[in-house]
Amino acid sequence: MLKRYQKFLEKLDKRLESYFEEQCEFIKCKPGCSSCCEVGEYPFSRLELEYLMSGFVELPFGIKHNIKEEIKRLKREKPKLYKCPFLINNMCCVYKYRGIVCRTHGLAWYDEDENRIRLPYCVNVGLNYAKVFDRETGEVFLQNPIRERLRIDSILRSPEAEKYELECGEIRPLIDWF
Ligand code: SF4
Repeated sequence: MLKRYQKFLEKLDKRLESYFEEQCEFIKCKPGCSSCCEVGEYPFSRLELEYLMSGFVELPFGIKHNIKEEIKRLKREKPKLYKCPFLINNMCCVYKYRGIVCRTHGLAWYDEDENRIRLPYCVNVGLNYAKVFDRETGEVFLQNPIRERLRIDSILRSPEAEKYELECGEIRPLIDWF
């Protein structure tokens, strides 16, 4: 199953890469920026979690220990939004194995169901799409948003995903899987 998921991710990554290129005038992502991993609840399906953990087991002992301690703290304190426990020194330590929400973050897309453009969180800190967003009125002046529904449930249940016969399982906030 993880092999099929990896193949599926290769296709998804290519598609997302082309979206990032297409939208490059609005994108501020750069190495060292971890804004999208600092405040969130990070929905993960069971399949994505399994893949993430296959990367986690390969990490050095000390890093694994720190991540486990951070997860314990988050379980104890139960904040609604939190910094991802896999973010170490502003870098994702399981980057290759990260979830779909991590891969799509940073892009704006048109939500047909709600007839509105969905913006990434980092627009609020003056990053992606900030130049086409009026924070006071909430208006978005974006001519050509991405037309694909970039939510993980939609991505995992898309006809594209069906070809890979993925069994994704339930979707939960990352910390609820531990
Ligand atoms: S898994 Fe990695 S990319 Fe995803 S939120 Fe955590 S640190 Fe960020």
